[in-house]
Amino acid sequence: MSGLNRAQLQAVYCTQGPCLVLAGAGSGKTRVITHKIAHLIEQGLPPKSIAAITFTNKAAAEMRERAGGLIGRRAKDVIISTFHALGVRMAREDGQLLGLKPNFSILDSQDVASILKDCAGGTTDLATARQWQWDISAWKNQGWDAAQALAQAQDEHQRSLALIMQRYEERLTAYQSVDFDDLIGIPMRLLRGHEQVREKWQRLLGHVLVDEYQDTNATQYELLKLLVGETGNFTAVGDDDQSIYGWRGATLDNLKKLPQDFPQLQVIKLEQNYRSTSAILRAANNVIGPNPKLFPKTLFSELGEGEPVRIQDCDNEEHEAERAAARILSLRASANPQPAWKDFAILYRANHQAKPFEKALRKANIPYKVSGGTSFFDRAEIKDLCAWFRLWMNPDDDPAFLRAITTPKRGIGHTTLGKLGEFATQHKTSMFGALFSQMLPAVLPKKALEGLLEFGRSVNDQEYRARHTLGHEASRSFLLDWLQELGYEQYLYDSEDSETVAAARWSNVLEFCDWMAQRAGGQIEDAAGTTTQTTVKSLLEVAQNIALLSTISEREQDQDMVVLSTLHASKGLEWPHVQLVGVSEGMLPFKLNDDDGRQQKVSEDIAARLQEERRLMYVGITRAQRSLVVSWTRRRKKGRDTVQCQPSRFIAEMQLDAATAREDPREKLRKLREEFAARAAARKVG
Ligand code: ATP
Ligand code: MG
Repeated sequence: MSGLNRAQLQAVYCTQGPCLVLAGAGSGKTRVITHKIAHLIEQGLPPKSIAAITFTNKAAAEMRERAGGLIGRRAKDVIISTFHALGVRMAREDGQLLGLKPNFSILDSQDVASILKDCAGGTTDLATARQWQWDISAWKNQGWDAAQALAQAQDEHQRSLALIMQRYEERLTAYQSVDFDDLIGIPMRLLRGHEQVREKWQRLLGHVLVDEYQDTNATQYELLKLLVGETGNFTAVGDDDQSIYGWRGATLDNLKKLPQDFPQLQVIKLEQNYRSTSAILRAANNVIGPNPKLFPKTLFSELGEGEPVRIQDCDNEEHEAERAAARILSLRASANPQPAWKDFAILYRANHQAKPFEKALRKANIPYKVSGGTSFFDRAEIKDLCAWFRLWMNPDDDPAFLRAITTPKRGIGHTTLGKLGEFATQHKTSMFGALFSQMLPAVLPKKALEGLLEFGRSVNDQEYRARHTLGHEASRSFLLDWLQELGYEQYLYDSEDSETVAAARWSNVLEFCDWMAQRAGGQIEDAAGTTTQTTVKSLLEVAQNIALLSTISEREQDQDMVVLSTLHASKGLEWPHVQLVGVSEGMLPFKLNDDDGRQQKVSEDIAARLQEERRLMYVGITRAQRSLVVSWTRRRKKGRDTVQCQPSRFIAEMQLDAATAREDPREKLRKLREEFAARAAARKVG
């Protein structure tokens, strides 16, 4: 347990009952969790009875690696996952009690939107469907189902939305599918309503640890309470100043409720920041200062004053990007020891801001990766393939059925599919189930029927083969043969106007297959020629967990590249050199009043939003270890227009010493000249 201070040790040794570590950024909260896992195991708790909950899959992978560094192979059996991944496991094991088959499908956000559109009769536009999706998700995050939403509805709009939600629930049941919110809601209902399930999980879990506790939502807190039961053996770590997912239903009430719900709660505060220099930490503390304090905290650093935080004002985004690239090159050329590419991060408010930086970095030959951007799994070609995997596992998944049967087109037209859909609804079965019904031939022409049956048989055949395909080599050749059979490459070239785009999409497909195959395990040789032996899985098993992985970046972690990331996705991470870009009013804080004419509901709304934006700025600043540049542009593109910008109010709130913060040498020169002239004038007067 070396490498921990007294307060951290206290948190690690607090193994009985509930424990809350509440502390500012970089104070070693995540480090407490990793060390506590090791300590609990050394105390004799079986690894598989420890669950550590992280905010992202990537954070889970990193924590497993760190824990592995402390306790070796025993880290393998610890449950380290997001709430959602744990929820999948619980729902697959015990979901039958709620009428869910173990092989249920997990719908992504696009599927959900199109189902909702369908629920309203298909005349709705996508934007409206997205808004419903958002509202329904908010209800679900409060723990409501459609019946509860209907009972609570205040007006006509809410009532009709609750009715759409009801239809949506019916579809999901029919498709044997769940959405992301269900991955928390279903386990919660299982634990709440079924004593035997509750006892089973409470017996299994000896200690639950939760990182980034400030960003949990109401249902996640319920789930946590049900998992740990009365004894409440858990450790939550968090920082109310870093709560930045309020817009997605996270609530600080969970922090406030903890001491009330668990009167025996031990609260431990950490005050030393081990990440950033004093100059950076001071800027962070100044920014968060104006926010109301839920829990007063102090944070100090012993890493020395360090480089002053710099402000850069730039003409426009291109200029800002060029300067960012130039700074990276100049630090690489001058700093000793030379920083690696991966020591640099460029952070921004919104995904679309990455573009000019990508261009500038590419031009300067700087390797980079965009994290937290469009996920690999959001690409149409990957979703196409995933539709087939979903169908192997759950033939009742109608959205997957429709996607798979129509990409590539195989001469089965809309009329045929329409008739099949009607037949399935009439006979209360899924579309796939309807294929093999004795009565189907009565409603479809022979040719259409044959096409459908051939599709059905090929899905069954693939499922069978995928189940019996073991290890990465067999999986790879299976996947390649299958793509060939499907004519998928040709399909991409046929459907894209540009050959380059088609080629890029095809290479995504190949990369994806390669990555899936790797996950099937076996003897794997890396680029350096070292072979490792990992557990062998069937391709079907691999496919089963795909829907949950939101990014493929899990395996990219250690590449030596500059990171471009949104502020939201940078949570919990750290880099030696950070640049926060586009820090202007309207971007950060993000525009607080709608300029499309809609009235803000109430002024408190704006105040609360401003506070969350301020926390986002605080998260950004505290990612930096040694140097921090904050830049803004005088002009910014907005759609086709260019708008004038003001520096963000947060820049002033950092209260940097104006003389040291300016990086622009011309400015410095101007000041020197002025001083010189003033002194000369004074002398003359004297
Ligand atoms: P955040 O609020 O951003 O999630 P955190 O509180 O989780 O931050 P960590 O990421 O655990 O903080 O730690 C920040 C950095 O400080 C890490 O590099 C970690 O290794 C280091 N660190 C933490 N505690 C100590 C310690 N006692 N001695 C030396 N280094 C430490
Ligand atoms: Mg952390």
